[in-house]
Amino acid sequence: MTDTMQAIRVERLGPPDVMQLQDVPVPQPGPGEVRIEVEAVGINFADALAVAGEYLTRTRVPYTPGMEFAGRIESLGEGVSGVQPGQRVAALGGSGALARYATVNAAGLIPVPQSLSGAQAAAFPVSYFTAYHGLKTLGRGQAGDWVLVQAAAGALGTASVQLAKALGLNVVALASTEEKLDLARRLGADVTLLQDDPERVQKVRDAAGGKGVPLILEVVGGARFQESLDMAASQGRIIVIGNASREQANLRPVELMKRNLTVTGLWLTSLMGDRQATAEAAQVLGELVASGQVVPQVGPTYPLSQSAQAFQDLLDRKTTGKVIIEPGQ
Ligand code: NDP
Repeated sequence: MTDTMQAIRVERLGPPDVMQLQDVPVPQPGPGEVRIEVEAVGINFADALAVAGEYLTRTRVPYTPGMEFAGRIESLGEGVSGVQPGQRVAALGGSGALARYATVNAAGLIPVPQSLSGAQAAAFPVSYFTAYHGLKTLGRGQAGDWVLVQAAAGALGTASVQLAKALGLNVVALASTEEKLDLARRLGADVTLLQDDPERVQKVRDAAGGKGVPLILEVVGGARFQESLDMAASQGRIIVIGNASREQANLRPVELMKRNLTVTGLWLTSLMGDRQATAEAAQVLGELVASGQVVPQVGPTYPLSQSAQAFQDLLDRKTTGKVIIEPGQ
């Protein structure tokens, strides 16, 4: 074991090319922590927003990005029990994963079926837990209901389509290219539409029997948020999960009143504190992954030295599935 390792460092906030590869000390696991040899890091839209200084929480620099990762436990800090060196785990920490080794509080470890590869395990926690909470915990979707999934070929989108189908819902999928729609269809989407189709609002309403969609997972925001209201069925639920357009949206409360709509926000970070909801999601997701009914979608994979390119491709809408960075490559 050497004393130093390569890691991505961000010293000032900005576009992805502010990320630099540097030699840094290997982190020591403190009390209650484990050190993990990082196999794969899942890159989320939130990571790119954090580097830009546009995330929901303030980004403190200098720092090493990377909140979601998988790897093998390499050593245990004081007082850690119940896990073994060599065990493959997934982890959700605030940052620090874009490196050869990362430390994380043992409480943040997520057991993953050992059948998953490192990349699949890194593609799992954020997207699938968010999809579950959107569809079930907050969305209250039932088998037979229709759900609209935006950005359906992305990391959250592919998770949402797969999970919705596994739970018996019908899916209308929106995405920006035919290739992306093709992926959504392969994952089971019932109706697929280009997100710039000029008749998209009417076509989405028609797909769900002409009455609009009872459940919408809204991730684009801006002007598309208004469209989501137009696509929703009377008494429909719009779950606000993201704002990929990075544009302001307008909401006229009276419009919600007129059609008895519900708009609900979803932030996985705060929902993780709800033990009952997290345990329920973990149980359902664990069973579906173990039985192969949902398979985490590994997207384009990059070495650590190409992290800036990976982030840029995600922002430029060039990727499908979960963008993965493998620090060992
Ligand atoms: P994705 O892999 O889905 O990539 C983002 C996708 O957003 C793009 O591929 C693109 O798909 C779509 N998009 C639509 N408009 C734009 C735009 N103007 N610029 C860039 N992309 C656009 O990323 P994630 O799965 O990581 O995240 C998807 C969304 O969900 C994000 O908004 C993210 O912040 C949110 N999210 C929120 C969570 C929460 O806890 N609230 C947890 C996880 C994700 P297309 O080309 O098909 O339009």
